[in-house]
Amino acid sequence: MVTEGFRRTHWAGELRAGHVGERVWVAGWVHRRRNHGGLVFLDVRDRSGVVQVVVRPEDGEAFALAEGARPETVVRVVGHVRARAPQAVNPHLATGEVEIAVERLEILSRPDPLPFLPTDRGVDEAVRLRHRYIDLRRPEMLDNLRLRHRLTRAVRRALDEQGFIEVETPTMTRSTPEGARDFLVPSRLWPGRFYALPQSPQLFKQLLMVGGVERYYQLARCYRDEDLRADRQPEFTQIDVEMAFVEAADVQAAVEAMMARVFEETVGFRLELPLPRLSWRDALDRYGTDKPDLRYGLAAVDVGEAAAQSGLPVLARALAQGGAVRALSVPDAGRLSRRDLDALVAAGRETGAAVVAWIREGDGRLGSSFGAAAPEEALSALRAAAGAAAGETVLVVAGPLAGARAAVGAVRAAAARRLGLVPEGPTPPALLWVTDFPLFEVAADGRLESAHHPFTAPADEDLPALLAGEGDPRAFGSKAYDLVLNGFELGSGSIRIHRTDVQEAVFRLLGIGPERARERFGFLLDGLRAGAPPHGGIAIGVDRLAMLLAGASSLREVLAFPKSASGLDPLTDAPAAVDPEQLAELGIEVRPPAAVSGAEEGRSP
Ligand code: ASP
Repeated sequence: MVTEGFRRTHWAGELRAGHVGERVWVAGWVHRRRNHGGLVFLDVRDRSGVVQVVVRPEDGEAFALAEGARPETVVRVVGHVRARAPQAVNPHLATGEVEIAVERLEILSRPDPLPFLPTDRGVDEAVRLRHRYIDLRRPEMLDNLRLRHRLTRAVRRALDEQGFIEVETPTMTRSTPEGARDFLVPSRLWPGRFYALPQSPQLFKQLLMVGGVERYYQLARCYRDEDLRADRQPEFTQIDVEMAFVEAADVQAAVEAMMARVFEETVGFRLELPLPRLSWRDALDRYGTDKPDLRYGLAAVDVGEAAAQSGLPVLARALAQGGAVRALSVPDAGRLSRRDLDALVAAGRETGAAVVAWIREGDGRLGSSFGAAAPEEALSALRAAAGAAAGETVLVVAGPLAGARAAVGAVRAAAARRLGLVPEGPTPPALLWVTDFPLFEVAADGRLESAHHPFTAPADEDLPALLAGEGDPRAFGSKAYDLVLNGFELGSGSIRIHRTDVQEAVFRLLGIGPERARERFGFLLDGLRAGAPPHGGIAIGVDRLAMLLAGASSLREVLAFPKSASGLDPLTDAPAAVDPEQLAELGIEVRPPAAVSGAEEGRSP
């Protein structure tokens, strides 16, 4: 490598025994400095790694400069690569067989005393984010950014090969409902009017299909003003995809090819295609969640019949109230202690199941948390219904369907954790499609809400009833699907409504009257009337995918400049107050808030 203008012949981290004897120019930061045996050793780091530079007293000016070089000083070194003495070889360092004997040392920039060094461990995250430019010098951070780059590069290549084109959609636009609040941008030229930052490019990508683009993608920045939750970012990136003249299987096939490439080029893993598919109902019944982690088994089964015949009063009561009884066999081979079992019961109870109990073998008889009076035959019948093998512990949950399902999910996840069934790294991954979601959910106030978003097509068999205003909309199915990775919802998509009459019927059921629909989505309805092809797509979260592939524990580890958990940008101190003149120009008056949540993390202006 030779760069014109600024001379540098090699990356520091790429020097090897094969370079011995060469005169090289390297540049970077002083990673560490050691004075030893009258010599100064500088570890010089650039983005490729670190190489050792040796400076002797007889090197004159270079020696004086090296002696005074603090860590993170920016230097350029000219010197000769030579082999290290055998006892000085460092097998842990890629360049550990060589070093550079200095000929010239230049100081390009001297840092002030720094709040921390890239070599420091356990630095408080707030400090790291405040000085992210130092934190990014840590090889781990750089590796994560590189992995993310390979991810998006693989996405672009895979979609390009399949004939998709990347189209940018506006980020100053009108609100798109994805279930969160909008971030608003006031308009100076139109006082009192606001742009919204997009929660997703949903409507634009549908209009691109109306516009004949047919295969679109975008690495789209999206913004959602949601309440603070651990590990959520107010702005995030999605791989946004839309295709015309397709069914769900076509979208899924395109995404699978893309994901295969992503796994191959980021973590070198070969995905087996097609990915497994699981219906929403089966996911909930077996795993108690619509985003099951299938890296481990532990599927629940319905033991309602055995429960009805068991004579156990708590189960009889749950069934009499129309509830469900489910059981989970856990291959614990005695590894779960009583305390572990109690913890599993507590995890299940928290989610609202009426009953969570265990049955296990021990000392040649069956023990359970149903109480000493529980007849052994009943316990044995429940175990058999659960399909438990010898030595397996059975967990039984009972209650209203939603609660029983949630309890299965909680008990299953807690059991997997306690049994060490959850692998650490990103591979082998469990990637699957969850399909056949309902079209609607019922909100706390009894109103219908879209399970995905209001542009999701209903299942074919429910279309006539939907258009006729008949049937129970809560039972309507949809053409929505989710992509799930290791227990996380990675992406969500659907075949869309491409007929105005269907879209209007859905709006009606959602309580969005014709006027409101016209006002908010008139442009979409007009578009659908202009000859809309059948179409569908998906959006996949880049940040989450990068996090899982990097084996990182937080989204902040795969974003160059993330917001803190409280939605603040510790680097620039955004959101920040603005000048009164700026507000006046916008025609905005700010009422001082009584209390700003998260203010404790903010710094005073
Ligand atoms: N717009 C949806 C979202 O952001 C994804 C989609 O349906 O394509 O979740």
